[in-house]
Amino acid sequence: MAGSMMYMPLTIGSMIDHAGRYHSDGRVVSVETTGGLDRSTWGEVARNSRKLASALGKLGVAQGDRCGTIAWNNRRHLEIYFGVAGGGMICHTMNPRLTPEQMIYIVTDAQDKVLFLDKTFLPFAAKLGEHFKSVEHYVLMGPRDEEAAEMVPGLIFYDELLATGDDDYDWPELDENQPANLCYTSGTTGHPKGVQYTHRSTVLHSLAGNQPDGINIAARDTVMPVVPMFHVNAWGVPYIAAAVGCKLVLPGPGLDGESLVKLIDGERVTLALGVPTIWMGLLQALEKTGSKAESLQRTVVGGSALPPSMIPILRDRYGVDLVHAWGMTETSPLGTLNQLLQKHVDLPPEEQERIRLGQGRPPFGVELRIVDAQGNRLPEDGETQGALQIRGHWIIDGYFGKETSDLTEDGWFDTGDVATIDPDGYMVIRDRTKDIIKSGGEWISTVELENIAIAHPGIANAAAIAARHPKWDERPVVIAVRAEGENPTEADILAFYDGKVAKWQVPDKVIFVDDLPLGATGKVQKVKLREEYADVLIDQGA
Ligand code: ADP
Repeated sequence: MAGSMMYMPLTIGSMIDHAGRYHSDGRVVSVETTGGLDRSTWGEVARNSRKLASALGKLGVAQGDRCGTIAWNNRRHLEIYFGVAGGGMICHTMNPRLTPEQMIYIVTDAQDKVLFLDKTFLPFAAKLGEHFKSVEHYVLMGPRDEEAAEMVPGLIFYDELLATGDDDYDWPELDENQPANLCYTSGTTGHPKGVQYTHRSTVLHSLAGNQPDGINIAARDTVMPVVPMFHVNAWGVPYIAAAVGCKLVLPGPGLDGESLVKLIDGERVTLALGVPTIWMGLLQALEKTGSKAESLQRTVVGGSALPPSMIPILRDRYGVDLVHAWGMTETSPLGTLNQLLQKHVDLPPEEQERIRLGQGRPPFGVELRIVDAQGNRLPEDGETQGALQIRGHWIIDGYFGKETSDLTEDGWFDTGDVATIDPDGYMVIRDRTKDIIKSGGEWISTVELENIAIAHPGIANAAAIAARHPKWDERPVVIAVRAEGENPTEADILAFYDGKVAKWQVPDKVIFVDDLPLGATGKVQKVKLREEYADVLIDQGA
């Protein structure tokens, strides 16, 4: 139209095109599932993505078909991200640590036509295959492998599949509102539900999430997403990395602290992203190996509450700036990121740290509010707690497969989190609606109780849950893992709460265990803990 601006659809294919054209020698380093490092470039990843789309078309996979992945963070997974979506199909990343029942449920719900697998997960597919009725093609993400071929009849090998694709394949023209990728919630609090992102929502999420007050990746960075590519698209980092052309380091299957330290030092990683449990492992490995992680400048941590001790440890011992972020599968995931405002610059470090412990503020493109049980908006005074709701360009409207919207009547998505928001828009998650402890009509935040326990030097990790109580309905119980070589008693830990919370919020009991049950994305599975310990107070005659 004359007197107007050009219109070009916001597509995922255009992101990898940019990387291929303007950062073709930008490096992509990837730990192979079978061991060893794969060294590639954005130019090669861009070429392979197109060839993959072409090859899938020849296999009979059509636009709108779902292609599942059960895979680690690696180069082939990256090509599948771009090739599948760029070709108009839908990239459905699956969490390998789900139970077989959940996996069968998800594949059936998504009606995946193709399943891409890393070798680690081949036995799993061989076992469950008869239940995956929609799947027509299994693709092993690697070269030909005779041992694997025997496990799954008709198995296709990724490298051979790629070779059948055309070099001069062009992306089809796509509508930016077409679906591009699909993730299921990890089911921490119920049945997994599918969240389908569009090309447009993915591109806008990448652009807005990478602003200077957000993830802030530059072409000069070396970025390592430790957060899995099956966990909400690795928080969007693969897309951001392509749009920016930074060096990308994909850690493959070895997510233990020592493997990560080796990669950080070996590849000179400047920014790494992951959930708090990963950082706990990494910090222990740094202590053990004596590495100072010299190249590392920043980390983005989110997915569950940040233990307060982590900011000063990373800053003072390793010179690493920690950015706390919050989000969920339904929000693509970036909902808030925590950076200071101009008025905070001259505050003393402790004050700054207190602000930065919270989950932060929304970037342009999303808005937050808190409401009461009737849906009335609550004051944003930093004190009043309410149900956290969100709306924006990359926020879910309705779950996959449903005709209806999952929003409130006035168009907001209820997150299931309980939060406060202060006058500057800084949000603090107090708890999940389902986890919060309701003691005699008052609320006790499990997150707060956990943070205190974890701050005790004798404790490595802790989770607080609601245990049933005859008088108060629910009372807090802390399940804790002792730090190596330490032996704190229940009385020590309970005394540690003195003066830190109101008396009635001090837990009724501390139970020591060897390990906490972790879910597929590294979060403590409180549902499991509640199954086991919900009646401990009643059993002991409370
Ligand atoms: P699931 O809901 O299945 O665990 P998600 O990965 O979507 O899967 O989890 C989103 C939830 O994780 C949020 O609703 C919130 O409760 C929690 N969460 C995410 N980031 C943070 C954070 N920085 N601090 C506290 N909780 C967080």
